[in-house]
Amino acid sequence: MRFNVAAKYDVIVIGSGISGLICALELAKRNKTVCVLTKEAVTEGSSLYAQGGIAVPLSEGDSAEKHLLDTIKAGSGLTDINVAREIVAHSVSGLESLISYGIKFDSSLQDKIHLTKEAAHSVSRVCHVGGDASGKYITKVLVDRACREPNISISQGTFALALLTDKKESIIGVLIEDVTREHYALLANDIVIASGGAGQIFENTTNPKVCTGDGIVMSYQAGAALQDLEMIQFHPTVLFDNGDPFLITEAVRGEGGRLKNIKGEYFANQYHELGELAPRDVLSRAIFFELEKTNSKHVLLDITNFSEDYFKFRFPSVYQTCLDRRVELFKTGIPVSPAAHYFIGGIKCDLSGAANIEHLWCVGECASNGFHGANRLASNSLLECMVAPHFLVSKLLEDFKPNPNNITYFEIDLDPKEYNDSIIFRIASDLKKNNSSALGLIRTKSVLSQHLNYLNSLFESLSPDKLSLNCQVQELKNMVTLSFLICQAALKREHSLGVHYRQDFLNLPDECKHLVSCKNTELYWLSQTFLTPVTANTK
Ligand SMILES: Cc1cc2nc3c(=O)[nH]c(=O)nc-3n(C[C@H](O)[C@H](O)[C@H](O)COP(=O)(O)OP(=O)(O)OC[C@H]3O[C@@H](n4cnc5c(N)ncnc54)[C@H](O)[C@@H]3O)c2cc1C
Repeated sequence: MRFNVAAKYDVIVIGSGISGLICALELAKRNKTVCVLTKEAVTEGSSLYAQGGIAVPLSEGDSAEKHLLDTIKAGSGLTDINVAREIVAHSVSGLESLISYGIKFDSSLQDKIHLTKEAAHSVSRVCHVGGDASGKYITKVLVDRACREPNISISQGTFALALLTDKKESIIGVLIEDVTREHYALLANDIVIASGGAGQIFENTTNPKVCTGDGIVMSYQAGAALQDLEMIQFHPTVLFDNGDPFLITEAVRGEGGRLKNIKGEYFANQYHELGELAPRDVLSRAIFFELEKTNSKHVLLDITNFSEDYFKFRFPSVYQTCLDRRVELFKTGIPVSPAAHYFIGGIKCDLSGAANIEHLWCVGECASNGFHGANRLASNSLLECMVAPHFLVSKLLEDFKPNPNNITYFEIDLDPKEYNDSIIFRIASDLKKNNSSALGLIRTKSVLSQHLNYLNSLFESLSPDKLSLNCQVQELKNMVTLSFLICQAALKREHSLGVHYRQDFLNLPDECKHLVSCKNTELYWLSQTFLTPVTANTK
């Protein structure tokens, strides 16, 4: 089918989360024309829901070196130490840049930025805004700035369907469906994927509906290498009730909240010396084992160390959500269980976000530069979203060569099949349920192998390699492709490391290596030469 080219920009950014917006603003400042594509409202994305804040080593007893060591320790040996060193070293300048946009971080009585403690950090170093509503306030300020910037045009309700390449296979544009359901192509000199994670492939996730891994899959389909897809982080404390999963920020535990099972037994210290502040992978598994042991669906977060007035002031969103959902938080404790939270793997890139294809860049949660290793340290994601765009923009501008393409249309083969809405809905909910059993916290060869067969059968019925113009169908195809690639990688990694826990291979690897997935190529290992594997001290 023929798709006309409707416009041309210097740069197209796919995604309007914190990473995409900072990229767009920094590019616009340097006189580049930028189009930001976003499939729902401009504010929608994981960024909006971030609670705890951003890790920055600001206190007197802290340093970039200490922050780096905590990052490496949490990352279990898979961290790219050079990338991590650069990101942490630029955290203060990244924060200053955010402040210059007009973001006011919560301060303590001495008018210094207030820092809280979160899991696996050796000191308090998490800056926050609006108590526990950091993402909401930061997103709002960035959106206001981007809307007032003449070099930026924001296309809301616009779904990026596929990346478009020229004859030399470099990326030159994007095929989209806009808010009026028109389909056309946009050209750009460079494309930045900032499309966030993929928590929606699971039944229980902290991620909003837009997180279906589209940008990761469209990059793969265009020839980009993906990395460490099996590394998926589960957040230990997500409010368990019949409503949408709601994350209870780690700062609640950082400031003294304790976990007990439904028999009233405090258990965290039995699994790790840091107890409630153990790395997320360890604590999520500890909760999983307690749920099995007590045959229950949740444990309880005991917050009786706080006065109600202080809790309400410090964690207003958690407090209000619990009240709205009739949780008697000071009487019973908050019922919590783990849920899929953060996509550690993604599009393989270097510190600047450059992928392995010309003119393709990635930033934020969809990017895999090795910063988070095999387990992300709390509040290091927003740190990456705040700092990495600056590296990306510098390199993109350094390499910038105007694209001479004068293409006026593209011919694209489409999936001729029509899919019924109710079938799509059923396949999607089965997929999420099955992914939760097979690709969740605890994995085994037999379950993964069965799951791969199931995903293979979906491949036959859905043809995910063929593009569909129906966004709902294309989202499902993206989720099926990504689930398949994750399953393949989880099977291949026959050891346990960080968030990847194989009950049949509890051993650590001899050497930490990244696992790379490329289209039409066997999965392959890439040496990570800097570190030796470490276990997160599970008792
Ligand atoms: C509940 C919650 C709490 C969190 N708390 C913290 C915290 O306190 N500290 C921390 O460091 N991290 C936290 N995280 C993680 C962090 O918020 C995210 O990793 C980060 O915000 C991701 O930002 P991003 O810019 O990469 O993507 P997102 O903010 O997820 O944005 C992705 C964007 O891509 C768009 N998009 C996706 N697909 C398409 C498509 N096909 N076409 C067009 N647009 C598309 C979406 O609409 C969206 O605009 C939290 C995450 C969640 C879910």
